[in-house]
Amino acid sequence: MICPKCGKMLVVVERNKIEVDWCPGCGGFWFDASEWKLLGVKDDKYDPFTYEPVKSREKGCKCPICRKFMYKVDVNGVLLDKCPVYHGIWFDKGELADFVNSVNLKSKNSKTVNFLGEVFNINQ
Ligand SMILES: [Zn+2]
Ligand SMILES: [Zn+2]
Repeated sequence: MICPKCGKMLVVVERNKIEVDWCPGCGGFWFDASEWKLLGVKDDKYDPFTYEPVKSREKGCKCPICRKFMYKVDVNGVLLDKCPVYHGIWFDKGELADFVNSVNLKSKNSKTVNFLGEVFNINQ
């Protein structure tokens, strides 16, 4: 898959059965819808797929799977891109850390995110 932001090839990273695609160019992360479910955000109200799109001055980008323009959604103060037909969500560098710090994850999966953070510097 190609990065929706910078066009580089995404790299698949797997940990605790969760696969995410990471961009070595811009440091963003792509989660397929099924992978996102595995991450285990405890509270359904933080499910990005249920959010209505918001207007944003940020440049739109296309879903790496279907090439449709993605919607911006504001989940708990973090602006994410989601595919309009639910293929997945894109986190710019730093957004994944912002998001997981603002919601509760099942503890095993917090470790997955910590791992991603250590290896790919999502906290920077
Ligand atoms: Zn990129
Ligand atoms: Zn799509």
